[in-house]
Amino acid sequence: MNPYDEINLKLAEASQYITNSVSDGNLEMITTPWREIVVSCPIKMDNGNTKVFTGYRIQHNAVRGPYKGGVRYHPGATQNEVKALSSLMTWKTALVDIPFGGAKGGIQVSPSKLSKSELLNLTKRYTLSIDKFLGPNTDIPSPDLGTNSQTMAWMMDAYGSVHGYTPAIVTGKPVELGGSIGRDSATGRGVVYIIDEICNKFNLEPNNNSLVIQGFGQVGRWIAKIAYDNKYKIIAVSDVSGAIHNNNGINIDELIKHYDSNKTFDDYKNVNFITNYELLNLKCDFLVPAAIERVININNANDIKCKYVIEAANHPVTPEADEILQSKNIDVFPDTLVNSGGVIVSYFEWIQNLYQHHWEIERVNSELKKIITKAFEEVYEKSNTKKINYRLSALSIGLDRVIHTANLRGYL
Ligand code: NAD
Repeated sequence: MNPYDEINLKLAEASQYITNSVSDGNLEMITTPWREIVVSCPIKMDNGNTKVFTGYRIQHNAVRGPYKGGVRYHPGATQNEVKALSSLMTWKTALVDIPFGGAKGGIQVSPSKLSKSELLNLTKRYTLSIDKFLGPNTDIPSPDLGTNSQTMAWMMDAYGSVHGYTPAIVTGKPVELGGSIGRDSATGRGVVYIIDEICNKFNLEPNNNSLVIQGFGQVGRWIAKIAYDNKYKIIAVSDVSGAIHNNNGINIDELIKHYDSNKTFDDYKNVNFITNYELLNLKCDFLVPAAIERVININNANDIKCKYVIEAANHPVTPEADEILQSKNIDVFPDTLVNSGGVIVSYFEWIQNLYQHHWEIERVNSELKKIITKAFEEVYEKSNTKKINYRLSALSIGLDRVIHTANLRGYL
């Protein structure tokens, strides 16, 4: 099954637990992307040759507000994958109840194989190919896998070259260009707020609980840093090249210094070097996939030995693996809840841009905590009352909100 069909399968299941009534046709209407844009992005490479890259922007649903979602640069960013991720954004923004719809963008490219000037040219070409469909009240991109605040600065500049100075056109920009303080750490911070809430619910102490984190990028390294500062024991982390492990815990402050200067875990002392496959099978309390999708699947789900899977990445667990984990009494906390910190603080950034105003970090973090813990409570409560898993609970809450708003607007 492809990622988009996998998400739709779960949505169909979740639709059994909604309170609003909806016909099959209307359910199809709100779960199908409203617009799919495919663009060719030719750029001149440093060697003088022209190369054409394919870019996508999928606008899934805008019933609750402007389309919102990241742009990823990755060889696996196919139209189908971007479609699946755009759908997740619709249910995520609805679950945390912020006034956005869902979208996702992507370019099929390995960003590490391009020079800085090639990336700049590609980003500008992509933005100018889709700029008619973007706008602060229409569609607002943000960073995702393989993109970052620099990418957003280039997108803002390209959009501004046609439409004039418009900081609210992207979120996740550098603070100097109108980005929000705390946006860089927001997704990771939100993940740790969720883990804290799980500890509160199940009477767990952070210092008695171990974390294994897959991915050491914008999301994974912040989870590691914030969880380490909050006294959780981080026993393993990984990037695309491999993983490191020490059952007594890894000093994340020292590791970040090493990683920043070497760009690799290689030569880091007092750890075992293992593969990403072995990392996912480690015995731990919280397993946190924070890299790419479908890493926990039918091939390895039986070997997973954690107590809780915390989906910091988007769609890291396939539906087959979901069932296997459930049969092993491993609770999965879903992506639409767990990694929503990024889009929540993107919402704060958008507000700040519209008002030309800056919030302090304390305000950003406390408002983030308020929104994400409220969503956690709702998901937990519905899961207990309806006796369904957390994924179905989260998706059904999002679905209900979108259906309700679509009804109010006269769409259904
Ligand atoms: P990133 O590009 O900054 O980092 C990705 C990390 O994953 C890197 O450490 C990379 O080495 C590692 N990785 C890549 N391929 C891998 C593989 N095959 N096996 C193991 N590790 C691999 O990306 P990011 O922004 O940290 O995004 C990570 C995930 O979180 C994605 O699923 C993304 O959609 C999701 N997410 C990101 C944000 C955000 O604010 N950046 C918000 C919500 C969700």
